[in-house]
Amino acid sequence: MTLARADVPTTRPEPPGDRRTSTASVVLRAVLDHGPLPRSTIARLTGLSGAAVSRQCAELSELGLLRERPVRPARAVVGRPHVPVDVDVRRHVVVGVHIALLHWTFVLTDLRGRVLAERRTPHRDPSPLAVLADIGSRTPTLLDEHAEGRAPLGVGVATGGWVDPESGVVVRHAQLGWTDVEVGRVLEDTLGIPVRVESHSRALAKAEQLIGDHRTRARSSQVHLFVGNVVDAAIATGDTVLHGPRSAAGDVSHLHTGAGTILPAASCPCGRSGCVQATVADRQLTAHVRRRNLLPDATFADVLTSLEANEPWAVDLFRDRIGLVARVVALLIDVINPEILVVSEAGLARRPELLDVLHAEVGRLSHARPDPADAVVASSFGPGALGVAASAVVLDETYSRPLWIQPVSVPRPART
Ligand SMILES: [Zn+2]
Repeated sequence: MTLARADVPTTRPEPPGDRRTSTASVVLRAVLDHGPLPRSTIARLTGLSGAAVSRQCAELSELGLLRERPVRPARAVVGRPHVPVDVDVRRHVVVGVHIALLHWTFVLTDLRGRVLAERRTPHRDPSPLAVLADIGSRTPTLLDEHAEGRAPLGVGVATGGWVDPESGVVVRHAQLGWTDVEVGRVLEDTLGIPVRVESHSRALAKAEQLIGDHRTRARSSQVHLFVGNVVDAAIATGDTVLHGPRSAAGDVSHLHTGAGTILPAASCPCGRSGCVQATVADRQLTAHVRRRNLLPDATFADVLTSLEANEPWAVDLFRDRIGLVARVVALLIDVINPEILVVSEAGLARRPELLDVLHAEVGRLSHARPDPADAVVASSFGPGALGVAASAVVLDETYSRPLWIQPVSVPRPART
């Protein structure tokens, strides 16, 4: 597949007006949430007139974002049948790229955010130049293998640390040792596809709002806490995820948790000890396992395999971590009082019963929510959450401004 800039969607030079854009967005989101839907139901759900809905459906169909889904009526009907419309997943795809400490992950999703392909590539060299060159050279091949003729709408890149989505710059990723890396510009120049860059926490928050299990509540107000090698948060009210000046919002890495019963309070680069990121990071769990010789030469993937196999020491270790995470969750719940607080953490994604441990500990510590079972939930997307989140950066833009995509000619519709 050749990815020439002229062949792929770009922002229109003269974008449609705000009102048309927002009407199209409302219609497309209603179909995403409830589709397939007859136009009359879309009108009822959105409060738009039947004529406005028909006009928008026609325009969105022309762009390859909606399609009619005829259904065989149960009995003969008189008059024009109500042909439902649905999101058209045959024409476009979205690429998600998640850059982690030790590897990067390519994810291809359809317009409903469903994963079509996922590939993980270890970093041979974690320098920005090497990682971006690898992404730039592998992505066209992976698209060619998996897109089945569907046109890419864009590449969403998510990573930890401080990310400025306006400029597409990773301002600081301490563990990777990246400072002021122009990820968006470099990848856009290489790939010829629009590239959007976002912090992984804010990307996860957007994914929850757009396609998550608790999307209605997540669109009201949400805190998203990510726990991995990086620990950071995203705060959203309404449909807006808070960025703050230079997009520095959400750094909770130095909140103090102290030691657990297994994990010691680790010294932090800030000079103190017991900061949450330093203490509960994935690499601390791996270090503990190696120190105790529970698994010789263990990697974090090995530790997760032991958790999946229900090894008692692994279950205890993740219970200890989630107990420490609960201290941060309780604080965030009390300070922000969100409708919902979502936790993305590798243990929770594999052992749902760890959520009970989290609820019990948050209930003990929180003043605002002594019964947090309803408010504190695990990520909707399981172990593959970060790839989906990266793709959601572009999906979110597509659903917010659907008329801004450029219609593309597709060689042949893919099979559904
Ligand atoms: Zn610190």
